[in-house]
Amino acid sequence: MSRADLHTLGVAELAGVLAAREVSAVEVAQHFIARIDAHAALGAFVALDPEVTLAQARAADTAIAAGGAPRLAGVPIAHKDIFVTADLPTTAGSRILAGYRSPFDATVVRKLAQAGMVTLGKLSCDEFAMGSANENVAVPAAGIGAVQPARNPWDTARVPGGSSGGSAAAVAARLTPAATGTDTGGSIRQPASFCGVTGIKPTYGRASRYGMVAFASSLDQAGPMARSARDCALLLSVMCGPDPERDSTSLERAAEDYTRALGDSIEGLRIGVPQEFFGAGVAPGVRAAIDAALAEYEKLGARRVTISLPRTELSIPVYYVLAPAEASSNLSRFDGVKFGHRASNYRDLSEMYEQTRAEGFGDEVKRRIMIGTYVLSHGYYDAYYLQAQKVRRMIADDFQQAFKQCDLIAGPVAPTTARKIGEHGNDPVADYLADIFTLPASLAGLPGMSVPCGFDQHMPVGLQLIGNYYAEARLLNAAHRFQQATDWHLRAPQGA
Ligand code: GLN
Repeated sequence: MSRADLHTLGVAELAGVLAAREVSAVEVAQHFIARIDAHAALGAFVALDPEVTLAQARAADTAIAAGGAPRLAGVPIAHKDIFVTADLPTTAGSRILAGYRSPFDATVVRKLAQAGMVTLGKLSCDEFAMGSANENVAVPAAGIGAVQPARNPWDTARVPGGSSGGSAAAVAARLTPAATGTDTGGSIRQPASFCGVTGIKPTYGRASRYGMVAFASSLDQAGPMARSARDCALLLSVMCGPDPERDSTSLERAAEDYTRALGDSIEGLRIGVPQEFFGAGVAPGVRAAIDAALAEYEKLGARRVTISLPRTELSIPVYYVLAPAEASSNLSRFDGVKFGHRASNYRDLSEMYEQTRAEGFGDEVKRRIMIGTYVLSHGYYDAYYLQAQKVRRMIADDFQQAFKQCDLIAGPVAPTTARKIGEHGNDPVADYLADIFTLPASLAGLPGMSVPCGFDQHMPVGLQLIGNYYAEARLLNAAHRFQQATDWHLRAPQGA
């Protein structure tokens, strides 16, 4: 391995060369810091602090030299700017959190640090994770100074997806071997798909939400984004586990070593293909890539079964009632008193709240607060919120019916590849509709992942794999077997 090529190594490989002391954590950190600087125009990062990064790298080198260092010691990672961090600012992509510094690290951040990982910085995301294109970001990109969405490294005129767009762009451009993301309705899977990287959203409750700036608490879930399923398995093993004192919705199940099942045979695995995931809105090139991936699985010994998820279309109205409802409640804490921005001109307390929120929140966030407040209001609660809850339950039940016929579900992550920046202008609904294939698993709380499986024109296509509750090991293994047989996940955009 040449030192100039360190960015071509994944998490597992970097952990190997670091443990063997072929390279130091400081050298690795310096290499990535220089790359991030050279690729600042991508806008993937919103906060960097090389001194913090190098101090963590020195600590990792000391631990490695002393022997018995944790498995990921010295391997770099970067965090979606929705996770609070004590050593770096946290904005959640919003002006309202300008100047905010958390007194503590999110549980997921802390666990990855305890595993020896070195933080490279914070990654761009849609404001409060609301969006599918990273275009709703309201804070300047690091090294640029201007507010701009992260760009897709495969075509910088296109979006990287969202809301974890900076995470996907940074991994795809080899600015970091790994990143954290969060997924409320698809925000790990969709940007992973758009940027040709691998990402997994675990079962709801697997990873602690403590220190994740809340969007829709019954849906929000953290997960890793990296180049391969193997790397995601390494990271997820660290990120998960109960956190009963800090997140009452975290599952009691102990953390698992998801790398253990990697390599198991998938002979006889029944892959359910929902007919509703192949409707008219799916681009022909996306469909062709998914079909080819399913054929590859058959070669690997899996069996293909047609299934039905009859309420797939309903997941859009259900999600866009429930997520805003929860957001309107969660975002009430941003009032200029405790965190970040406070308006400077006001006559009394109410005006201070109003001005602060008017100045601090972007259009999409305001839109969702209004929708959420409306659907929760007296007189509309039964018609919208309660009704949506009932349909949510039916969507979850549909999956349980489907899992009687199959072990995993497969289909596209999104109907198309990444669109051009600005293409949807002032039409938020166009983006909402494109969430159709990621929302069902989110509403059901099921684990789902995106696996690179080809290209439509020059843009990456992601295969979505959905498992039943707690089936992360099976999902990761199915993705790993596919990646052993294909090289889509190894392709890099030009210049990376
Ligand atoms: N695109 C969806 C939304 O805008 C999902 C976002 C997410 O998963 N955080 O709400």
